[in-house]
Amino acid sequence: NGFVELGLAPELVQAVADLGYTQPTQVQVKAIPLAMGEGADANGFIDLMVSSQTGSGKTAAFLLPVLHTLIQQRAQAEVESKAEFERLCAEAAANGEPAPKRAKRKDPTNNRNFKAATPGALILCPTRELAQQVAHDAIELVKHCRGIRVANVVGGIPYQLQIAKLQNADLVVATPGRLLDLQRSMQIKLDKVQFLVVDEADRMLDLGFSDDLAEVNVMTAQRKQTMMFSATFAPRVQQLAMRVMHDNGSGVK
Ligand code: AMP
Repeated sequence: NGFVELGLAPELVQAVADLGYTQPTQVQVKAIPLAMGEGADANGFIDLMVSSQTGSGKTAAFLLPVLHTLIQQRAQAEVESKAEFERLCAEAAANGEPAPKRAKRKDPTNNRNFKAATPGALILCPTRELAQQVAHDAIELVKHCRGIRVANVVGGIPYQLQIAKLQNADLVVATPGRLLDLQRSMQIKLDKVQFLVVDEADRMLDLGFSDDLAEVNVMTAQRKQTMMFSATFAPRVQQLAMRVMHDNGSGVK
C-alpha cells in the first residue's frame, strides 16, 4: 500500500485501505509529505498552495496530513498525562496519602460543563454541500482513530444540534458564515487552530467570502499551517494567499 511510504499513522493507512485506495494520487504524493513537515520552517510548519481539481483526491491530500499530526499530538498528550498521573500517585504514596483519581472527561451534553469548542484544525469550504462531503470523508478517515472527533458547521441545520456535536471536536469542517456566527456567539474559539485549510479558494472568492476568510484567519493561532487548495491560481487567488499565509506558499502543483 503506497500510503505506508508516506509515513502516515497506521490508523489512517488502515482507513484508506478500507476505502479501497491502494495508491496515493498525484496531488496526495506531492502535498502530503510537504504538509507533514518535509522542508518545514524552524517552527515545523509550512504553508502550502495547491492547484487541484475536484476528483484529484485533494480532500484526502489535506485531511490525511492534518489528521496524522492530530493523532501524533493526541498520543504525545496521553503519554504526558499518564506520566503526570504516575508522578502524582508516587507523590501521594510517599506522603502516605490515598492514590489520586484520574480526571474524567466532561460530559459535552451537560450544559453546566459548557465550554466553547476549541478545535485544533479547521477546514473552510465555500458551500454547505462541499463541507458536508469533506466532513463525511474525514469521519471515514478517523474511524480507526481513538478520540479524534470531527464536527461539521454549516448553515441550515439547527444550532443546538451542531453545538452539541461541536463540543470536544478536534477537527471542524465549516462554511465561513455559520462559523463566524458561532464564533460571535462564543460557541467556538479559534485560537487553538493550528491547521487552517481553505478548500476551493477560487469558489470562496466567487461567493464573496474574502473578508470572512481574513477575519477567521486573524482569530486562529499565530503559529499554524495554512493550506490553500484551488482549481486556479488567478491573481485574485494569489492576493488571498498573500492575505492569509505566512509565506506565499510553496506552490505545489
Ligand atoms: P476529491 O478530489 O477529494 O473530491 O476525491 C475524488 C474521489 O477520489 C473521491 O471519491 C475519493 O474518495 C477518491 N479518492 C481519493 N483518494 C484516492 C486514492 N488514493 N485512490 C482512489 N480513490 C481516491
